Amino acid sequence: MQNAGIAALGLNWCYLAFDVYPERLREAIDGAQAMHYLGLNLTVPHKLLALDMVDLLDESARTWGAVNTIRFEGKHADGRWTPLHQWPEAPLHVRSHGFNTDADAIIRALREDLGLEPGGLRVLLLGAGGAGRTAALKLASENIKEIFLINRTRDKAVAVGNEIKSKWPSVKVSLEYPPGDVDLVLNATSLGLKEADPFPIEVTQFEIRRTKAVYDMIYRPAETVLLKTARQAGLRTANGLGMLLYQGAKALEIWSEQPAPVEVMREALLKNVYGGD
Ligand code: NAP
Repeated sequence: MQNAGIAALGLNWCYLAFDVYPERLREAIDGAQAMHYLGLNLTVPHKLLALDMVDLLDESARTWGAVNTIRFEGKHADGRWTPLHQWPEAPLHVRSHGFNTDADAIIRALREDLGLEPGGLRVLLLGAGGAGRTAALKLASENIKEIFLINRTRDKAVAVGNEIKSKWPSVKVSLEYPPGDVDLVLNATSLGLKEADPFPIEVTQFEIRRTKAVYDMIYRPAETVLLKTARQAGLRTANGLGMLLYQGAKALEIWSEQPAPVEVMREALLKNVYGGD
């Protein structure tokens, strides 16, 4: 997806994947910085660790408490810092600037893939891990009406609920299944990745017909049992591919300071994730 986007922008860049042990993350970031990489993406389990490892946190990384994108910036003689892609020659002094593009991607995916505007929604959110927490906080910041937080480890849902109550007190928070209808069920658990996984909803507590739409952050398989059940019940559904795409598109915009070629990136992602031409 990134290399297709980079090529479409006519940039002479290359995006590579590396496996890094969490214990060596600081060295990996420092090494990339010393070698004048333009930027990095980080995924689980590095997003939280990197908060303490970058030189500067963007508002997005501070607000959502995680870094998934780093941009390296060089220092000019007059003290200004600008992204490395602007430098014809590598500068001596380089800093790392941490961003978060995941939270905005969730909202964009709900808007573009399900036609949902977050304001006023009642949401049943399954999962309070890294992605679930970000989704819950971002939805709350977008003025949803009510959120029902369900997580296997209840303490994590309690913590996320408390964070919402303190930062966005107008949002109603419940740690039980909804007694009535909701607008959206959002699966942010890893249940559904494997065919043998249990259904992520306690069906004695909530019947799928009581929501209008279902978003599953999982994108492989393309249709989880949850999404299939929802589709067969006539609901609007979308998988997590859009979320993956939009966080990547935003990262490319941060590095390049140009609009990302989203449709080119989508095509590449579809081809790479699901195969085919
Ligand atoms: P995480 O921090 O490890 O959280 C995993 C979540 O799944 C937790 O809520 C966990 O509950 C729950 N869970 C795991 N096994 C379970 C089980 N057997 N029964 C009930 N609940 C279980 O992972 P994450 O980064 O938040 O990712 C969560 C999901 O979102 C994954 O499927 C991931 O692939 C997907 N995701 C998609 C995108 C995208 O771009 N589309 C981005 C990020 C994540 P406990 O708290 O009780 O462990």
